[in-house]
Amino acid sequence: MKLAVFEWKGAHHVGVVSDKEGTVTRLDMPSDMITEAGVTSLIGRTMPASKEVLALSDVNLLAPVPRPRRNIFCVGKNYFDHAHEFASSGFDSSAAKGAIPEAPIIFSKVPECVVRGGDPIRIDTSVSNAIDYEAELAVIIGKGGRNITKEDAMSHVWGYTIVNDITARDLQGKHSQWLIGKSQDSFCPMGPWAVTADDVDLADTTVKCWVNDEIRQDSNTKLLIFDVPTIIAALSNGLTLQPGDVIATGTPAGVGIGFKPPKYLAAGDVVRVEISGIGTLENPVEAY
Ligand code: MG
Repeated sequence: MKLAVFEWKGAHHVGVVSDKEGTVTRLDMPSDMITEAGVTSLIGRTMPASKEVLALSDVNLLAPVPRPRRNIFCVGKNYFDHAHEFASSGFDSSAAKGAIPEAPIIFSKVPECVVRGGDPIRIDTSVSNAIDYEAELAVIIGKGGRNITKEDAMSHVWGYTIVNDITARDLQGKHSQWLIGKSQDSFCPMGPWAVTADDVDLADTTVKCWVNDEIRQDSNTKLLIFDVPTIIAALSNGLTLQPGDVIATGTPAGVGIGFKPPKYLAAGDVVRVEISGIGTLENPVEAY
């Protein structure tokens, strides 16, 4: 089931999307979909009542978690081919330990950098001249927990969405810690909606990214170094995960830094990320 948060008649709502029909059916529930109450009402037998059926073209989709309650957790270097391209880029402050991490590399992005599909990725050339895209599957946690085992991890997953983990490579290298290069304003496009966990097959989900009409990334979640249960087990190790937490699982090869010379984003570009079973997240790039 695809669930969207959207703006309609001046208010925020949640609805079930039929992308085939081009419609969203509004649900009788609060607009903060990913909360303890919201998630509970969407799991099992207590599906909220359906209201109006609206054309997707008549509503404004928001990110499925428009303003996460806390930082978005992210995994770095989680596909073998990307780990190698990044380690050889010269910007990888974690490269001293080798290209392939022995444990998941976890960093975060501040919640305020989330934007929706269609919103511009803003680039400020007075701050960075090395702004890159990273197509990623993102996990949305439905049931919180601490010290979650790999075996139990999937029962904590509510659903998935798409995140474009936009990165200022020069800041990522300069500051050693990745937060500032990953958290610039507008650097977390998310959407177009969420898909419940039962509708995504992690063993075979394609992750693709185009810049303008050029395909740059073309991979599959079956190639993750650390799979979703391993990520959840590692992240919840002494840190209590909460409903609504978003975990971006890492990007495959083909980011701008992987090309020689690098292909960074520039004003006028359009970045399109497509994940099978979820949909398409497209954002233009604009200068300040
Ligand atoms: Mg990333």
